[in-house]
Amino acid sequence: MADSDTPLGGRPGSAGVNPGEEKAEFLAALCAQVGATGKPWTARDPVSEPVIRAWCDAMADGNPLYTSPDRAAAGPYGGIVAPPAMLQVWTMVGLHLGGPPERAVEDTPSAGVYQLLDDAGFVGVVATNATYSYDRLLRPGHLLTGTQTLAEVSEEKSTGLGVGHFVTTETLYTDQDGNRVGSMTLRILKFRPGTGRQGPEDDTAEERPVRPRPATNRSTDWFWDGCRAGQLRIQACDDCGHLQHPPAVRCLSCGGADLGHTIASGRGTLYSWAVPHYPQAPAFDYPLVVGLVELEEGVRLVSNVTGVRPDQLNVEMPLELHWLDTDDDTTLHQFRPAAPRRRDSTLAAGELEVGHRLPLSPVPIDTLLIVSTALATRDFQDVHHDPDAARAKGTPDIFMNILTSCGIVSRWIGDWAGPDVGWQSIDLRLGAPNHPGDTMTLSGSVTAVKSADGHDLVTVGFEGANSLGTHVSGTAELVFGDLPGGEA
Ligand SMILES: [Zn+2]
Repeated sequence: MADSDTPLGGRPGSAGVNPGEEKAEFLAALCAQVGATGKPWTARDPVSEPVIRAWCDAMADGNPLYTSPDRAAAGPYGGIVAPPAMLQVWTMVGLHLGGPPERAVEDTPSAGVYQLLDDAGFVGVVATNATYSYDRLLRPGHLLTGTQTLAEVSEEKSTGLGVGHFVTTETLYTDQDGNRVGSMTLRILKFRPGTGRQGPEDDTAEERPVRPRPATNRSTDWFWDGCRAGQLRIQACDDCGHLQHPPAVRCLSCGGADLGHTIASGRGTLYSWAVPHYPQAPAFDYPLVVGLVELEEGVRLVSNVTGVRPDQLNVEMPLELHWLDTDDDTTLHQFRPAAPRRRDSTLAAGELEVGHRLPLSPVPIDTLLIVSTALATRDFQDVHHDPDAARAKGTPDIFMNILTSCGIVSRWIGDWAGPDVGWQSIDLRLGAPNHPGDTMTLSGSVTAVKSADGHDLVTVGFEGANSLGTHVSGTAELVFGDLPGGEA
């Protein structure tokens, strides 16, 4: 799905094939409102600390400028600010109470288009692109108004998900004084479920062969019992304290026979690795990385290294333990790139140059993350919490919403850049969906640096890849050093 240069393998640039009179009429109806601007739409509630905290909690964003009054008061903005990635959240419609009662479907030109598409069977929906620009910082008390323009409705396209139409909207956000605070260009695909290249009756989902069991015996059962209990046990000599792996019947240091074990922290580094290409065993995912992991306790062990492409591997890269439960009651130790730590002090202007790499960051995707972040971004669409509804709309399971993809990418970049970094814009293109059970690994590098007047405008190119391909790619523009023009 992600091997094309357009989202979801679509071909937005190609001409339709004999659209036919009916299709032409339908398209004309869809496009009737293109260029129209809806009524301004004021948020139900102002920007507030509790809503910021709920969002940071779901995204695991620990930037103290968002949640710690004391630290924020001492920071560059003199108080709490909202994460820029929350821009769209403030004017999201609620669940049961919706928005102000005067709001009607005809108030936004896109709502009418979505209704037409739903009625014609294009009930599947995914966001494919979003571009946010940030003009002013948002603080508690700011009351946002969004004004949406319907920018474009594509002709019928054939995409990996199904036949559908791309709908592009542009929303301008202002505060209670009419100051422009930011903008969003959002492109979504409304598609007809079951018409894609991989429909719901996908017969490639055959039962997977069981992974080969590790060889076990009475003298190593304690190790595999440990794995089942979530403990990576390393053999330890009771006499001299020597640690060794793989387990042996005697201490390899003093020859003692009284052997116990210690529990490894799960932190280590990559000592070496191999990438076997042939023959391939059907129970494994390829490319397969077999690593020699040096644990911080000092012993090395062989383990698969997951969530990372072979070209992203480096000797001594930090790794963290995770577990793989197989179908036959065996639990296997696995390693993946260690989640990077949040930087407490912000990088300074002049510290970055083109080619600087951001740390790899694996993001395990589970139902809790998808649902909690959907709620924290006030996105109540059923495809983000109801598996049956998601399947009825042409996807195999619930999937992460675009506001969360934006939030998680922003959190990772912010953790790398430091809490005081200024945000100008972020541009995201979505491809393969993030479903529960997958892992998305974020990677990126500095692609441009422009220096002026004590600050650097830095562009970061990024990608988040999962087992299906590229979930998200794009660019972010950040300001390091003195913020140009001060702050709002
Ligand atoms: Zn010993």
